[in-house]
Amino acid sequence: MALYVQKFGGTSVGSVERIKAVAEKVKGFRDNGHQVVVVVSAMSGETNRLIGMANEINDEPTPREMDMLVSTGEQVTISLLAMALHKIGVPATSYTGSQVGIQTDSAHTKARIQRIETDELQADLDDGQVVVVAGFQGVDEEGNITTLGRGGSDTTGVALAAALKADECQIYTDVDGVYTTDPRVCSKAQRLDTITVEEMLELASLGSKVLQIRAVEFAGKYNVPLRVLSSFEGGPGTLIIADSDKDEDSMEEPLISGIAFTDNEAKLTLLNTPDVPGVASRILGPIADANIEIDMIVQNVAPAGDYTDFTFTVAKGDYKQTMKILRDQVIPDLGGGELRGDDNIAKVSLVGVGMRSHAGVASKFFRVLADENINIRMVSTSEIKISVVIDEKHMELAVKSLHKAFGLDKSDIEAE
Ligand code: ASP
Ligand code: MG
Repeated sequence: MALYVQKFGGTSVGSVERIKAVAEKVKGFRDNGHQVVVVVSAMSGETNRLIGMANEINDEPTPREMDMLVSTGEQVTISLLAMALHKIGVPATSYTGSQVGIQTDSAHTKARIQRIETDELQADLDDGQVVVVAGFQGVDEEGNITTLGRGGSDTTGVALAAALKADECQIYTDVDGVYTTDPRVCSKAQRLDTITVEEMLELASLGSKVLQIRAVEFAGKYNVPLRVLSSFEGGPGTLIIADSDKDEDSMEEPLISGIAFTDNEAKLTLLNTPDVPGVASRILGPIADANIEIDMIVQNVAPAGDYTDFTFTVAKGDYKQTMKILRDQVIPDLGGGELRGDDNIAKVSLVGVGMRSHAGVASKFFRVLADENINIRMVSTSEIKISVVIDEKHMELAVKSLHKAFGLDKSDIEAE
């Protein structure tokens, strides 16, 4: 007998028919003798619909009322799922986040879980019940309803699994696992059997939206076995494992686990800025003050020692405002500098813990791009990631060529 926490996302509970299908799936696990806690999201589109209505009424709704509003989406699905389970003979009880004792801080719309009371939950489970919990929500010390940020039901699932010491947290979604890259761009992308927490965090922050980043962090911190799998098809999905469980030196482990990419960034360069202490902070400070997030940063080594070039990237949506800040505040403050910008760029990144113990990944990466005549505009690296900025028009070609060159193409691995 195992204890599973199973989280079903918005698409998986997107209609009455689908809610019935989820109930059948849960019943299957219970029939096999397992205990099941189910966490559900709101029906797909529902959270957006609620936010849309709020904005029609007030363009600055208070965060407390927003949480009061959006938490209702999940309350609909828990009750419907419990009813669907009853209908097929499975005893089940639904609970909101506050009923189940998911204590959070008071940071409305982005609250963090502090504590979960598990006694009652455990008693229900021991009593043979399936427990259905509303994802994405909790309650603060004063009893206000809070929510955990968009996509937060993943975090509810992992947190419950940690608190209950579940055997596995299963995230059911509309894809059948984590892929080597986006299959819509590269048809040879394939599902990974396993990926490490660190790799998953890199891929998630690079824009792969399979799991909420906080849920992955949580799983890493509390060692929760976490699996992503499809609610519509069978299959083992992808198991997200602790970094220490991966054998980096094993010859069978691929060097690279995945390729992430985005065309949602823009690049800005300040040419001929003075090469003296404090300049980077004078450039980036006003941008941070405007709440604009900076991604890659490159500062050239100044040959003569007195002037340098400073380049960084921001989200495309922040491009115009960043330009304006540089032009109106930073350049006058520095007393010079020439501004260049480009929003037709793409960032392509290779991710893999195998990089740590193998030399030559970067040079191979650059060779593949050179062979395709793709110019590299920026490079940044971390221990398990190499990212380059290239022209947007080359993004797809770069992803496909790298995918093949690093042995990630479907047929390659199948043939081995
Ligand atoms: N319903 C919430 C959202 O759309 C939470 C979730 O789906 O995880 O963000
Ligand atoms: Mg989601």
